[in-house]
Amino acid sequence: MIPGEFTYHRPSSVAEAVAILVSHGDEARPLSGGHSLIPMMKLRMAAPEHLVDLGGIADLKGVAEDGDTIVIGAMTTQNELIASDLLAAKLPIIRETSELIADPQIRYLGTLGGNVANGDPGNDMPALMQCLNADYVLTGPDGDRHVSARDFYEAAYFTALAPEEILTAIRIPVPPAGHGYAYEKLKRKVGDYATAAAAVVLTMSGGTVSTCSVALTNVADTPLFAKEAGEILTGSSLDADTIKRAVAAAEAITEPASDGRGPAEYRTKMAGVMLERALARAADRTQG
Ligand code: FAD
Repeated sequence: MIPGEFTYHRPSSVAEAVAILVSHGDEARPLSGGHSLIPMMKLRMAAPEHLVDLGGIADLKGVAEDGDTIVIGAMTTQNELIASDLLAAKLPIIRETSELIADPQIRYLGTLGGNVANGDPGNDMPALMQCLNADYVLTGPDGDRHVSARDFYEAAYFTALAPEEILTAIRIPVPPAGHGYAYEKLKRKVGDYATAAAAVVLTMSGGTVSTCSVALTNVADTPLFAKEAGEILTGSSLDADTIKRAVAAAEAITEPASDGRGPAEYRTKMAGVMLERALARAADRTQG
């Protein structure tokens, strides 16, 4: 299938892009890598009359350090995330997760901004951004506002983003040096969305967990920040009983659909298994 008709815009600044969105309201959509939007247009699940291609806005690209924060431009591709030495040094979980997304062709065009703005519960980056406590910078006609990744997702494909706003940057606090991390994803085959996935970032001191953050992918209408699971694990030695309680707390907040990836009960259990595996790998990687 081919998409319906639309008018193509290619602004060269964020201000110009916002002005186009303001003048066309709900009929306009930003276009980033196009690897979620164009398939949806082909399937007639989206039919925007105006596409605002963000590809000509140089300011939206790149990975930079701002004090204790890493700032990633929304148009930075998944492949650029994998290639970034700064991310490899400071936030290696981003490379690990990016490498599990789709296939190289999609990663060459798909962007971090598009992945997190889309609101697709199957996307991997939203839960990771919740785990890392990222802050999204949304730019509209009245300037910038900030929304935490943990507050951004409202329902499948519904987010805090207003129609005239563009997600311009993702700001991520750098976890302490020596932190442990892991993104565990169960998928039916290479290139598939997750049946269930879990992100873990933790720090340990003398065998005790000092901080622990957990989030889950594709086991509800939105990504899930598993606050209680992280709290149960904090202060523990990651003993079997504590892990069991944390896994149960994480499983309790899931609400997956039964679909081609399996019945709901199976996907909930797999979220727990992914969490257990991620915890084991994260603990192995901690230095402290
Ligand atoms: P687009 O498709 O251009 O946009 C997606 C949506 O976000 C649109 O509604 C658009 O208007 C909006 N948008 C985009 N950028 C902005 C912005 N800066 N501000 C405001 N709104 C914006 N993803 C995964 O995470 N895991 C997978 O396993 C996975 N597998 C895939 C397999 C296939 C076969 C395909 C085709 C895609 C897969 N994807 C997967 C999705 C892929 O990662 C997409 O590239 C990504 O979700 C969307 O990024 P994009 O840059 O292509 O955005």
